[in-house]
Amino acid sequence: MAEFDLIESIRARAAGRDDIVLGIGDDAALLRVPAGHELAVTADTLNAGVHFPAATAAADIGWKALAANLSDLASMGARPAWCTLSLSLPQADAGWVDGFLDGFLGLATAQGIALAGGDTTRGPLSIAVTAMGHVEAGAALRRDRARIGDDVWVTGTLGDAAAALVLGGHLPSPSGVVPTVDAADAAFLAARLDRPAPRVAAGRALLGLAHACVDVSDGLLADLGHVCARSGVGAEIAVAALPASGALRRVFGDDAPALQAAGGDDYELCFTAPPGLREPVRLALEQAGVDGTRIGRIVAGQGVRALAGDGSDWRPPRTGYVHFL
Ligand code: ADP
Ligand code: MG
Repeated sequence: MAEFDLIESIRARAAGRDDIVLGIGDDAALLRVPAGHELAVTADTLNAGVHFPAATAAADIGWKALAANLSDLASMGARPAWCTLSLSLPQADAGWVDGFLDGFLGLATAQGIALAGGDTTRGPLSIAVTAMGHVEAGAALRRDRARIGDDVWVTGTLGDAAAALVLGGHLPSPSGVVPTVDAADAAFLAARLDRPAPRVAAGRALLGLAHACVDVSDGLLADLGHVCARSGVGAEIAVAALPASGALRRVFGDDAPALQAAGGDDYELCFTAPPGLREPVRLALEQAGVDGTRIGRIVAGQGVRALAGDGSDWRPPRTGYVHFL
């Protein structure tokens, strides 16, 4: 199949939006940003063998390529609108592209984001997505707005995707022991890795409530560290407070905290908000359909301190585990 036919097959499946003046088929797309709003733009690339195991199903790769970008828009409190897709493919495999689009466009439709353009080239399997959204001018959630005294919150649960990578043999387990797992827990954890649910509604709901926000893609400690660095503050996190799924607890036991603190691929939101807004934050997240957990607070200083139950500094079971990731 030629590049042109591949592009045509993508165009034929892509849904439009009223604010796309000109979509796939010209040299550039023309997009209309609503008055009084700012354009939020983010890009993420997934490379085979680096960002996903090479054997990952095409539909899961498609889903995840868009989910990672939607998660970035979510963390800014932006409303998703448009995206572009740059595909580098070893060969023009129409079946693979069809499967990829099942996942990619499935999530795009669910989140109301439209594919407005892209590029198709031959090369090692690589997927580069740019996602665009809009947010009321001046209202976006940013990394550099955390304040001393803020609570630190996280949505959903942490560590599930890293657990699936460990079970698949793609990541060392924190203690070096790979646990046994039943089929239901394995399927739950695999779905958290392959089909993350970007917290778009939560990001929108937190506008006007959260001070700072980041999405957890590289691991909680690393990503919260970015918030601290950009805001000029420190953070203290209670490792025992990190939210865990039942499957993670059952399967990983004492290894769970390391996966939750440093695992990555979570696509949850970590945000800070004043203690006086605990109830409104809880309500906003409830309306967005996701749990929120308070895991610590913003303090004077710099860097993230992870605390064990007795108040001492928490360390992952194996030295260097956090850095390995
Ligand atoms: P050009 O050479 O001018 O960049 P292309 O032939 O690469 O144009 O692309 C033709 C049209 O198809 C453009 O509108 C482009 O945005 C779109 N397009 C190409 N590849 C993709 C893709 N993978 N997904 C969505 N749109 C694509
Ligand atoms: Mg081109």
